[in-house]
Amino acid sequence: MRPGCASAPDDLPPVPDLTRLDAMLTRLKLTAIRDQLDTLLAEAARRELTLVETVAFLCEREIARKDERRIEMALGLARFPMVRELAGYDFAAQPAVDKSQIRELATGRFVANGEAVLILGPPGVGKTHLSVGIGRAVITAGYTVLFTTASTLIAQLVKAHAEGRLEERLLHFGKPKLLIIDELGYLPVEPDAAHVLFQLVSRRYERGSILLTSNRAISEWGTVFGDPVVATAILDRLLHHSHVLTIRGESYRLREKRRAGLLGTSGAPSTTGASSIARAPRSPDVPPTLGVS
Ligand code: ADP
Ligand code: MG
Repeated sequence: MRPGCASAPDDLPPVPDLTRLDAMLTRLKLTAIRDQLDTLLAEAARRELTLVETVAFLCEREIARKDERRIEMALGLARFPMVRELAGYDFAAQPAVDKSQIRELATGRFVANGEAVLILGPPGVGKTHLSVGIGRAVITAGYTVLFTTASTLIAQLVKAHAEGRLEERLLHFGKPKLLIIDELGYLPVEPDAAHVLFQLVSRRYERGSILLTSNRAISEWGTVFGDPVVATAILDRLLHHSHVLTIRGESYRLREKRRAGLLGTSGAPSTTGASSIARAPRSPDVPPTLGVS
């Protein structure tokens, strides 16, 4: 008898004892099979699976558990600011958003190709919602994602530059397959900051994807960066292989309030709930220049 095998009649193959089987499954990192072996084998028997079907069934369960773990871990590392899914996006409310284009982005192919995505539009139209939703879908498709806001990213790069650690930070932001940079344009970018941002964009160019959201038209980026030359250099790289989504229309939050009768048709707050609405961001019309010419 081989060590670790329980005794068996001569005409049957030796049955490994359970402790040894457990150790082997642990060594192979087949933990889902190890932890649920009895249940899984009972289910295979109940469904009268053949031996080959049983092995496939066990492998499926192991893969499903590994995928779940990877997704859970990647979602934690992505640092999304809120839980939003593409399934929760009301496309009917936003006809400017092409559902089939979002579905295509959700496959993660743009990440595999190192392409950029720009989501442009006024506040409240769902730019952050879509970027988080796409980010989650991209993780499910098997890639790593990091979400940051433009102001956090720039502050970290500038600080690292001042402390002589720029390379380290560029590596950090260069690592994820998809880097989501939310809210470019809310704050002006100082010239030295624009320069470090350019370094990051060039480093990721054609190697990793960037998804960027902005409330400013591309034609205004010269002003956002305070330097048209750097703005052009950044845009040149971002737009080379890119998908540009321009969302027009009113803020979803204001729309919901209007539907609930809290706002008049003019958008001016009515008497009830006026204080909270008054603080909500106004939605300027998207300038006609918004988009790629
Ligand atoms: P933006 O980033 O463009 O300013 P957000 O993505 O933060 O807008 O959207 C503001 C809020 O409205 C979020 O809670 C978001 O989930 C919701 N929202 C915006 N547009 C839609 C939509 N079309 N369907 C469902 N929820 C939406
Ligand atoms: Mg936003």
